[in-house]
Amino acid sequence: MNEAQKIAKEIFESKKVCVLTGAGISTESGVPDFRSPGTGLWTKFDPSILSADMLLNNPERFYRKGLEILKSIGEVRNAKPNIGHKILAKLEKEKYIDCIITQNIDGLHKKAGSENVYEAHGNLRDAYCITCGKEYSFAGLTGKIENGQIPPLCDECGGIIRPGVVLFGDPLPEIYEEAIKEVKKSNLLLVIGSSLEVSPVNYLPDLSTKYIIINKEKTAFDRAAHIVWHQKAGNALKMIYKEIKKHEEKD
Ligand code: NAD
Repeated sequence: MNEAQKIAKEIFESKKVCVLTGAGISTESGVPDFRSPGTGLWTKFDPSILSADMLLNNPERFYRKGLEILKSIGEVRNAKPNIGHKILAKLEKEKYIDCIITQNIDGLHKKAGSENVYEAHGNLRDAYCITCGKEYSFAGLTGKIENGQIPPLCDECGGIIRPGVVLFGDPLPEIYEEAIKEVKKSNLLLVIGSSLEVSPVNYLPDLSTKYIIINKEKTAFDRAAHIVWHQKAGNALKMIYKEIKKHEEKD
């Protein structure tokens, strides 16, 4: 059996399947990831800028520099879901997968039609005031910056408005706790397009019954994985989907 056949068999036979995705699933939509050699955003930017510390202690620097990074992802708000996102959406509709836990902030799983999506690192649709919690849209936040208001301030209380993404040093949103429960209840976790270098999301494989990794490059979690396939996400999912359909015919 090749990898596509093995993974399809695992999905077909597992009662509850969770999927954990990272930036690698969106590179085929033109969204750069963080750590791919040569093209990753960290080859151009200093990651410490996107931290809760920087936002609180030096909001001007956060907004002048950090926004470039968010925009590199956010400009791609016009990005379209690729075949990988679309196949995951189909697999959910066809009841082969139960949920997607994503580290991505690009919103592409929801755009592709996936419904049960846990956005563990937030999203680029929302923003809020750190003092009174008033909600804004991300476009509202960038609008204020474009009008020269750095940092952008809340209309209600004058507090700083921040993007609805999880920054380094932030606690993870409550939704992450729900994602942990989903993983613990599942029979299989399929990890797609993640270096698994960011914690605590990278605790999830060890909380699962078993996990499979599909990633272009090696990860530190490969050794304990049930199956590892170093393959592009889109290709891999296309092949896996075909094999699942073959299983249906046999069944
Ligand atoms: P990462 O950059 O650390 O790792 C991405 C992994 O995907 C790499 O190991 C790379 O080899 C692999 N990859 C790249 N293209 C691939 C493809 N076509 N098919 C399969 N694998 C591919 O990303 P991460 O693990 O998600 O963690 C970093 C953080 O990056 C997350 O916190 C996330 O919030 C943030 N991020 C998100 C986006 C986005 O929303 N699209 C983009 C950049 C960074």
